[in-house]
Amino acid sequence: MNNEHSHDLFTRASRLLPGGVNSPVRAFKSVGGEPFFARRAEGAYLYDVDGNRYVDYVGSWGPMIAGHAHPQVLDAVARTMRDGLSFGVPNALEVTMAEAITRIVPSCEMVRMVNSGTEATLSAIRVARGATGRNRIVKFEGCYHGHGDSFLVKAGSGVMTLGLPNSPGVPAALADLTLTLPYNDFDAATALFAEFGAEVAGLIIEPVVGNANCILPREGYLQHLRELCTQHGALLIFDEVMTGFRVALGGAQQRYGITPDLSTFGKIIGGGMPVGAYGGRRDLMAQVAPSGPIYQAGTLSGNPVAMAAGLATLELIQEPGFHDALEQSTHALCDGLEAAAREAGVAFHTTRAPGMFGLYFREGPVEMFADALASDTGRFNRFFHAMLERGVYLAPSAFEAGFVSSAHGAAEIDYTVNAAREAFAMVR
Ligand code: PLP
Repeated sequence: MNNEHSHDLFTRASRLLPGGVNSPVRAFKSVGGEPFFARRAEGAYLYDVDGNRYVDYVGSWGPMIAGHAHPQVLDAVARTMRDGLSFGVPNALEVTMAEAITRIVPSCEMVRMVNSGTEATLSAIRVARGATGRNRIVKFEGCYHGHGDSFLVKAGSGVMTLGLPNSPGVPAALADLTLTLPYNDFDAATALFAEFGAEVAGLIIEPVVGNANCILPREGYLQHLRELCTQHGALLIFDEVMTGFRVALGGAQQRYGITPDLSTFGKIIGGGMPVGAYGGRRDLMAQVAPSGPIYQAGTLSGNPVAMAAGLATLELIQEPGFHDALEQSTHALCDGLEAAAREAGVAFHTTRAPGMFGLYFREGPVEMFADALASDTGRFNRFFHAMLERGVYLAPSAFEAGFVSSAHGAAEIDYTVNAAREAFAMVR
């Protein structure tokens, strides 16, 4: 595979951008080697600057649920941008977006648009702290909620990929306010609330953990957390930046039948443009400025072009059967990969939710963060490169979920499974 132009770009980038990238996991640090540079993308495929084509299971880390460069999304963007890129006064598309989110996710009675998932989660915990008058927050080991100070404590995603469970630059006094729990451990949550319940402003969770690969909630676990929060007057915050509009149209809260107090979103509602949102109970959201005293603002928030891309994507995913088809494709892919691993005699396990999956080089089940950590990451890294060589781009870390889009059809999945047969044989 020729990588000459990507290599030149990475050499130039490395002089000027930390690690040569604008977001850490893109640098391929944990899998080794150098990243490829995208030139364009279409449907299920990414094309790099050297002319190589990849079946893409990263999907820009989640937004591209309808495939890359979907004509309806591009048309909406092109139409909207002709009228101007940003107004700094309200525009109609923000209202349409708020109506769409609150209709699809009924726990969100009001919503505020922001520009990234990080902004959404930062703002949600500010609301939780402001509304409860409490300071502590609870998060889960291996969950990633963006790079806000309070969240860089035992975080997943790139933080974990790089072996940096905590980040320098986060004042200890602030980090001390973040309590962490092992995901899927009922008793640990009960014990934490017994000790600190009266001080907890909010508990934030990825209801399906996509930043420690892909870990599903045990039966009744999310309900247990719901009850603990209610009992102790803490707010339950579902970080649905990744799961929202993906694991079901109404996100994980719909799939698992839980009503959080606040929710955060990003990715899909921007259709590939920079967007985030947070929302929830009316009495809480009404405390956000200017209707209330909890301050949060944004120069580009509710940007019309981003709203147009997000609304077009939301339209596509509301077509009947969209999520069922996504779920079937995810199963077809994961079943095919597991069968290929079995043929090769490689210990391998997959976890899945509609449109997202985890790959583990170990026997299942994987239910705890510790199970994810115990997978053979060296073997994953070799597998990753063997797949890349064969034109399949998996998330470049053993601790990131993969994504399936509606553009991944039988042809792409068959191609991927065939490539995996060879790749598993190489990492045996
Ligand atoms: N929350 C979750 C669950 C995420 O997966 C991410 C990013 O991957 C974020 C928050 C942060 O979003 P952003 O990268 O848009 O700031």
